[in-house]
Amino acid sequence: MRKIGLIGGMSFESSAIYYRMINEAVRARLGGFHSAEVLLHSVDFQTIVDLQKTGRWDDAARHLSEVARGLETAGAACVLICTNTMHIIADEVEAATSAPLINIIDETARALKSAGAARPLLLATRYTMEQGFYTQRMAGHGIEVLVPDADERNLVHDIIFDELCAGVVLDTSRETLMAVIEQARTKGADAIILGCTEICLILDPKNLPLPGFDSTAIHAEAAVDFALAGLPQKDEQAA
Ligand code: GLU
Repeated sequence: MRKIGLIGGMSFESSAIYYRMINEAVRARLGGFHSAEVLLHSVDFQTIVDLQKTGRWDDAARHLSEVARGLETAGAACVLICTNTMHIIADEVEAATSAPLINIIDETARALKSAGAARPLLLATRYTMEQGFYTQRMAGHGIEVLVPDADERNLVHDIIFDELCAGVVLDTSRETLMAVIEQARTKGADAIILGCTEICLILDPKNLPLPGFDSTAIHAEAAVDFALAGLPQKDEQAA
């Protein structure tokens, strides 16, 4: 099994979900008491939030590149940035190590394409919805991402930072998100991207009026595919 390197802590609420999902998938695939070989470097999220708010993406890239190098030195065979937002500097982090970076946008695009979705609504932080890196990379996969209108983007962003990143899940906010989804459905959205790694705390992709794509689950699954590539897995052993 190859070691999975996680750059986490953004926020730690979602890193905990990654850790659980990755281990559950390894146990399901290998059986018995198997669990994942994981290296997690969990950063201080306040440092990252300060850099985000002041647009200091170069400093953030340097910081996360250093973390990625540390994970590689410690034995990680791949690196994941456990947040959609910080994929704004994914290319820089990828260039910092020889271990492959498993990109959350590419993996989500593949999942959308294999399900036949072409016009998904993106629910994410304002950075992810507005700064172009996400929608352009998706466009490169032939996917036209829809974003909520400006007022709705503010609502979604505030729910992420003021509540979900602080571990707070409110029914009223779930209703707000469902109203945003409903609005997008009337505008022709054919799927919903949970494009923030904490949104699965409040929305269950199975309980949406359109097919839901949880970036955390997709990313975690891709890491497990990488870690277990070439190993005999339960279904194959049974066959
Ligand atoms: N985890 C969130 C995301 O997927 C937001 C936290 C952050 O700003 O990194 O975008």
